Amino acid sequence: MNIIFLGPPGAGKGTQADAIISTYGIPQISTGEIIRNTIRCDTPLSHELRHYTDRGNLVPDELVNRMVDDRLSKPDCATGFLLDGFPRTIRQAEALEQMLSRRGRRLDHVLLLEVPDDILVKRITGRRMHKQSGRIYHLEFDPPPSSVTPDLVQRDDDTESVIKNRLREYHEKTAPLIPFYDALGLLRRIDGHQPPEAVRRCIFAALEPSSSSRTT
Ligand code: AMP
Repeated sequence: MNIIFLGPPGAGKGTQADAIISTYGIPQISTGEIIRNTIRCDTPLSHELRHYTDRGNLVPDELVNRMVDDRLSKPDCATGFLLDGFPRTIRQAEALEQMLSRRGRRLDHVLLLEVPDDILVKRITGRRMHKQSGRIYHLEFDPPPSSVTPDLVQRDDDTESVIKNRLREYHEKTAPLIPFYDALGLLRRIDGHQPPEAVRRCIFAALEPSSSSRTT
């Protein structure tokens, strides 16, 4: 199963990804994660990447495309993949088409998780990660126990001013992918403004072979 997970930052892609990858036995390829891991090493490339992520801007297509092309060559992608946060521009989508056709593969589904902007800002600004376990909490919607509070960190790009720019980038550069994939008959719209369990059910209904393209 070859799936793209499309949607604005904070839509819940990360939360829903686990169930999809364990059900279909496919790896999650999160370009945000790959970029954050690369930034942790102190190299010229990490400084270049930080320049974009710190401001909430998209990293140039050529850099991200190369990362995804490398990742798709790994053996665990032979069964499929869940692309989370890629593509984010039409040029990335076109590059992905080429990467897949070179490998004799094609996309099965593009899941679009839709959430209104005001909800996204609330979700992202309250998001905190437990340093040791990687577990994500939300100060209001999924409050952490007081025992872990000292070990919670906020992502550098989860502050309100950076989020506003990330959302601007999404609407300007990523949203054009919606009609792009709709025209190819691959788009599956999911209402992401529901409890996580309801979102999960909609996602699996959308991934059924007989599902229509509208499953909200
Ligand atoms: P995410 O965790 O997916 O929200 O990504 C965090 C940041 O990494 C984004 O704000 C971008 O700066 C960068 N990034 C992640 N994926 C991409 C992509 N496909 N194209 C360009 N920049 C990306």
